[in-house]
Amino acid sequence: MQSEAKSMLVVSTMTERKIWMDGSLVNWDEAKIHILTHSLHYGTGVFEGIRCYKTINGQAVFRLPEHIQRLMDSGKIYLMDLQYSKDQLQEAVIDTIKANEIEECYIRLIAYYGYGKMGVNPLPNKVSVAIALWKWDEYLRGDKQNYGARIMISSWARIDSRSMPVHAKATANYANSALARVEALKSGFDEAIMLNANGMVVEASAENIFIVKDNILITPPVASGALNGITRDSILTLAREKRIPYEIRDIARDELYLADEVFLTGTAAEVKSVVEIDNRPIGDGKTGAITQRLKILFESVVHGEHKKFSKKWLMFV
Ligand code: PMP
Repeated sequence: MQSEAKSMLVVSTMTERKIWMDGSLVNWDEAKIHILTHSLHYGTGVFEGIRCYKTINGQAVFRLPEHIQRLMDSGKIYLMDLQYSKDQLQEAVIDTIKANEIEECYIRLIAYYGYGKMGVNPLPNKVSVAIALWKWDEYLRGDKQNYGARIMISSWARIDSRSMPVHAKATANYANSALARVEALKSGFDEAIMLNANGMVVEASAENIFIVKDNILITPPVASGALNGITRDSILTLAREKRIPYEIRDIARDELYLADEVFLTGTAAEVKSVVEIDNRPIGDGKTGAITQRLKILFESVVHGEHKKFSKKWLMFV
């Protein structure tokens, strides 16, 4: 009864929300598409996940131009004409935030091929763009309580560029991610790490991965198949600023088990400590000092409390 009431509450607040669809702000419940939408059948959409934070100077979007650029890049890789310029998309995101009364949110921007001509070739179909947002505090189990994640190495290899472009954030990539994520959850873990076809560590189902060994921060190169994560880039930049030495190089599976610290980064997950991998404790089984330092620093940046990087990376609504 209680959970029913709770879900009704969520639905009723959602009905007051607006979703941006091809230039119009439509009511949440009316933001619908045809069942024969091409991208639903063939995974031909590209998308972005972005966050908006409450800061000491008002609402601000974190690294919006970089997210829009990555969407444009995804479209380019897929020969998809996004219909809107970078500036128009940026403006549309801001308009959508303004149309919704929500202080902190996750913003989903998607470009997809609509209903038109069925068949594998998407190009005869119109490209549509939509922007929706919602409150998303707990992406990985324990986010709210701030406990470290227990993760497993997936039996699914990460897709690689011989079969799909991995640097496009395409909806199709997430079939691979979903298989890994479901396997991990059903096995009692919080998240999955995927290896590439060479057996090297790539990333989690929707996060990049970092390890710390002997005070050196290490993350796999994007050429290993990892998405060029914007949070990953932010963490590397902050590490440079704080003179935390780092290496961008392949990481072998065994190195994960023997790391002093491990953490994941992503727009939805932010900076998430990992305390156990395949039932082996990482370091002393608690969030490590460098992870904690970078997490606190990242949080201060996104909440507008860091003089240099808040100014550089936040766009105020
Ligand atoms: N890898 C994958 C597969 C992802 O889906 C994401 C989330 N976009 C990331 C890494 C992290 O990227 P970002 O920090 O830009 O959200």
